[in-house]
Amino acid sequence: MSLFKTSGKPFLIAGPCSAESREQVLETAAAIKELPVHLFRAGVWKPRTRPGNFEGNGVEALIWLKEVKDTYGLPVTIEVAEPAHVEEALKYGIDVLWIGARTTVNPFLVQRIADALKGVQIPVMVKNPVNPDVDLWEGAIERLQQVGITDIAAIHRGFFSYNTSSSFRNQPNWVVPIELRRRKRELTMICDPSHITGRRDKVAEIAQKAMDMHFDGLMIETHPRPDEAWSDAAQQITPLALKELLSHLIVREQYTDDMSKVMELEYLRQLMDTVDAEIIELLSRRLELSERIGAVKKECNMTAYQPDRWREIVATRGEHAKRLSLSEDFIVELYEKIHHESIKKQLETLQDNIKEFNK
Ligand code: PEP
Ligand code: MN
Repeated sequence: MSLFKTSGKPFLIAGPCSAESREQVLETAAAIKELPVHLFRAGVWKPRTRPGNFEGNGVEALIWLKEVKDTYGLPVTIEVAEPAHVEEALKYGIDVLWIGARTTVNPFLVQRIADALKGVQIPVMVKNPVNPDVDLWEGAIERLQQVGITDIAAIHRGFFSYNTSSSFRNQPNWVVPIELRRRKRELTMICDPSHITGRRDKVAEIAQKAMDMHFDGLMIETHPRPDEAWSDAAQQITPLALKELLSHLIVREQYTDDMSKVMELEYLRQLMDTVDAEIIELLSRRLELSERIGAVKKECNMTAYQPDRWREIVATRGEHAKRLSLSEDFIVELYEKIHHESIKKQLETLQDNIKEFNK
């Protein structure tokens, strides 16, 4: 049975970004103990972007975590980034391991960590890679499964982006964790609002969003004095703020027992199925027209892509969307896909001569 599924929803992981001192670790644990926290986190080896910053207290901090476990009965988790970390973690009785975003990007390292875990049964959490690559994330999970690890959770901590206008440290890109869950139905999904937002005033908002998106758990960085934290100061919240966050959090379920609502949903879904069938038929008709247009273009030696026409489509469809209170961006993005498919079909028509040539 999975540790992550036995303990109620949300499965809650809290604790500081880094284990800074014995006092800081024990003080945080004492405060957190009062809350419905299932797992205590603290980084003991810290992956820092630049050298010269605090890089963790290493093995010494493992002793403090063991003390948390013994004193408060809270299971503990740390990040491991190489086989030596795994060895030390196992030696000190760490209950759960996690692989950080900067490690998940590297299949060599993930494999070495997996090899160090051969023959061991310990729950492992895999953070998403820094880049939004669902295959890489799934691949890391599979490397662990291959060595026999069965209790695995994925942690969504957002993705690096050059988009400097965003107010978040890492873009949530929800489609990526959604796709991972589609592929791995039984996988426990945990959201880390601290690393997504990078700022404490937004942590609650993303935590709620994760609950609304059917995540099973949350990992939230918690520090008794966040402003004094040695790493990730801006995003950590106090245990009291965590308590407050939890008191406002609405935990949602995938299903309801209310039969009248079940029927209502069923009715609305049937209507939606009909609309979707119409959309697909309309798209098929649109593509047929596009093929006929392609034939005319071929006769007249015209290009498949016509910038003026595309500009007109973007402008008119965008306007139409606005009139119907639809998001203009959404409709334009959708049309980019539709237009791309049309052009692809027309290119097939226009390139008959090349096909002949290649025969
Ligand atoms: C962390 O959890 O403190 C951490 C370093 O996370 P990530 O790997 O998501 O950057
Ligand atoms: Mn951190």
